[in-house]
Amino acid sequence: MAGMREKVNLLGMTRQKLEEFFLSMGEKPFRASQVVKWIHQFGVSDFDSMTNISMALRARLRELAVIEAPTIVRQQRSADGTRKWLLELAGGGRVEMVLIPEKGRATLCVSSQVGCALDCSFCSTARQGFNRNLDGAEIIGQLWLANQALGRDPRGDRIISNVVLMGMGEPLLNFDPVVDAMELMMDDLAYGLSKRRVTISTAGVVPALKRLRGRSEASLAVSLHAPDDALRNRLIPLNRKYPLAMLLDACREYVAGDGKRVVTFEYVMLKGVNDSEEQAEALARLLRGVPSKVNLIPFNPFPGSRYRSSSPETIGRFSEILQERGIVTIVRRTRGGDIDAACGQLVGRVQDRTRRTSAQIREAC
Ligand code: SAH
Repeated sequence: MAGMREKVNLLGMTRQKLEEFFLSMGEKPFRASQVVKWIHQFGVSDFDSMTNISMALRARLRELAVIEAPTIVRQQRSADGTRKWLLELAGGGRVEMVLIPEKGRATLCVSSQVGCALDCSFCSTARQGFNRNLDGAEIIGQLWLANQALGRDPRGDRIISNVVLMGMGEPLLNFDPVVDAMELMMDDLAYGLSKRRVTISTAGVVPALKRLRGRSEASLAVSLHAPDDALRNRLIPLNRKYPLAMLLDACREYVAGDGKRVVTFEYVMLKGVNDSEEQAEALARLLRGVPSKVNLIPFNPFPGSRYRSSSPETIGRFSEILQERGIVTIVRRTRGGDIDAACGQLVGRVQDRTRRTSAQIREAC
């Protein structure tokens, strides 16, 4: 419509993009630093609170721009302290984010897509298929909202110390918005998280992983789940396109040149599927030469899931075999299971419940 330009959302803009925005308005680029601080350090969403900016410029900003995050639809809290928020996006899609408090730190698990296209057989997000990518504002908006909801600790520090892109979606299939959001997470004027505290998790989109090196310093986690291509093809269809040899090469490259960096390999423990001693040995052989750490994740069930978790004894033995072969291995404790906030359980369930009958769910298996 004539004269009714759509306003731009400043929430998802990196400092550099904000500088370009201010230059395009005929303003000095240093305004970007001021506004980044207001938005991300102080959690401000109205231009009138930006007191080091002239009234005239504030008025222009009000005309041209907004600072807008998704809306919180529901909050849940697990008996173990884990919290989950259901968020509604403009246009109607829904995603979830999860906060996992631990001793000395709190990790926010952020979503990057509504649904997911990868169709991994053990993941409930796969059931809803792919809907759309989140934009940069919707991704960083999760951290912005969570920080607001949590406030600060008694020392005045923020509660959230780590962010993992391990929620709904495949972050490397939503490259630019994810990279921008991670840049803000690590920008000293925004959240100032160190590169060790921002982790992107991928099922193995190899070309995007190669691009990521050079674009971001974020830590890398890879969902491996199988020590050989035949099994991995069944669990993660994407493996047919980018088989293990290619994936592990890209992983090696990602951490090359920095002796301290490792790739975290996630391995969900599926009873009778990928949890034998032979498979543990094969996994150790596979990871030889890749600076790595392994996270064993007990399988989290969801309605209609066809797998079961390996027993604690089997997981313990699997872990021992890896450690005997020199691989640092951690068994991840399942958190938030009582509110469906654990790995692989995020679905935007409110929508889901109303839409799906149990017959449809059975059919999907
Ligand atoms: N698509 C990215 C980001 C999702 S991260 C990726 O695959 O890495 C979510 C993590 O939870 C992945 O490691 C995924 O494999 C794991 N996961 C999925 N479903 C699970 C389930 N039911 N139980 C335990 N872990 C699961």
